[in-house]
Amino acid sequence: MSSLISLTQAQPVADWRSAMGDLVTQAKDLCAALALTPEALGWSDEAMQAFPLRVPRAFVARMRVGDAKDPLLLQVLAGAQEMQTSDGFSADPTGETGTANPHPGILHKYSGRVLLIVTGSCAIHCRYCFRRHFPYADNQNSRSEWPAALAYIANDSSISEVILSGGDPLVAGDSQLAELVSLIGAIGHVRRLRVHTRLPIVIPSRVTQGLLEALRHPRLQSVMVVHSNHANEIDDEVAEAFSRLRTAGITLFNQSVLLKGVNDSADALVALSERLFAAGALPYYLHQLDRVQGAAHFEVSAEHSRALQREIAARLPGYLVPQLVQDVAGAPSKMPLTH
Ligand code: SF4
Repeated sequence: MSSLISLTQAQPVADWRSAMGDLVTQAKDLCAALALTPEALGWSDEAMQAFPLRVPRAFVARMRVGDAKDPLLLQVLAGAQEMQTSDGFSADPTGETGTANPHPGILHKYSGRVLLIVTGSCAIHCRYCFRRHFPYADNQNSRSEWPAALAYIANDSSISEVILSGGDPLVAGDSQLAELVSLIGAIGHVRRLRVHTRLPIVIPSRVTQGLLEALRHPRLQSVMVVHSNHANEIDDEVAEAFSRLRTAGITLFNQSVLLKGVNDSADALVALSERLFAAGALPYYLHQLDRVQGAAHFEVSAEHSRALQREIAARLPGYLVPQLVQDVAGAPSKMPLTH
């Protein structure tokens, strides 16, 4: 087992709510922490106004000081390229508005499962996010709107899995999550609860005993899909958070986005899979970038993505090779990018 993993079941050292209240939101603060200048980074105030800077200090602490090309920094950096328009890039690249959004707070794209938008907030703003232009204002899923959203799920007996999504659903408090899980669990045909979240990566102290209890349900199987893109994101504290989740009986997967300059090499992808598995999570999806407006500079060509996939498949056991997939608007599932 990697030396990265501590065998101790340490409790979170810092209160996650304090971390949420102390995010880095100013370019000057991020630059000061990394001994860099906005000029060296190609910083754009305009890009930052369009999609504000938001990054937890625990995540900044894993960036390399003085390195303008750090793979974690590039994921949050509001650069001038974001303001360029690019052919084929749009505000809704995966077709999430319209028929896929049949009710505020519900996204129903695929058979058998629905996404429930718990909140539009995130702890971090990832510049490549395919939902960076999502109309969260029209999808406020506050408590008063839960009954209608839950009725939608209860009225469709083909739905066996509910995915808590956002934003990041773990921005919500434990009591709110506990109540929601209990209401979902009361719908007899739902068998699985899935949580899509980046919080255990960017603020691992979010994985508290209270959260584990909130997600526990006597009948529902629990799955969590975390989101990390580079091995440097997974430090000892993240590994300890994974350990707490697994000990609570939650099956743990990771999804990544293939991003130019961040993880577009076989070495980076192999290191990520190895680090994830050492920490207790299985690589699940490697997403071809969704062509969202403002993120064109992150795109890796489909041809290069396939070549990378072939190379990592040749270097890793099959269970450590994530599926390379693309989200195609209107398709019945994520589409594999085949060889
Ligand atoms: S945490 Fe997820 S939803 Fe939030 S900005 Fe990042 S990719 Fe988008």
